[in-house]
Amino acid sequence: MNWSCLLGHQWSGCRCERCGQVRDQDHDWHLAQCRRSCRRCGLVKELSHDWEQCRCRQCGATRHTWSRGVCQRCAEHCPHPESAQAWRGESDATTAHAPLAKVCQRCGQELA
Ligand SMILES: [Zn+2]
Ligand SMILES: [Zn+2]
Ligand SMILES: [Zn+2]
Ligand SMILES: [Zn+2]
Ligand SMILES: [Zn+2]
Repeated sequence: MNWSCLLGHQWSGCRCERCGQVRDQDHDWHLAQCRRSCRRCGLVKELSHDWEQCRCRQCGATRHTWSRGVCQRCAEHCPHPESAQAWRGESDATTAHAPLAKVCQRCGQELA
């Protein structure tokens, strides 16, 4: 620590202008995607999402409750995006003698 700060730091927001020490107050918050980060010291804090049914009003994140490809809460149909489709694991004992099928990893629905 800089000796000149013994009697008190020269705070500029969260950071001392003289010695560079950071305190956890007066951050220069920058809001983005339900998290905020300090422009001065880089500290990041997660904020709670602003849920409107299954979608966050602020960042667009989703939390659907899927059942057979349809959300129980908002009735949205899962589009089963190509990128989420995967062959069901052959090691899965419960499906050992069922024909191999594709499963949507987004909603868990078995695809025809
Ligand atoms: Zn200082
Ligand atoms: Zn800061
Ligand atoms: Zn959010
Ligand atoms: Zn939903
Ligand atoms: Zn799906």
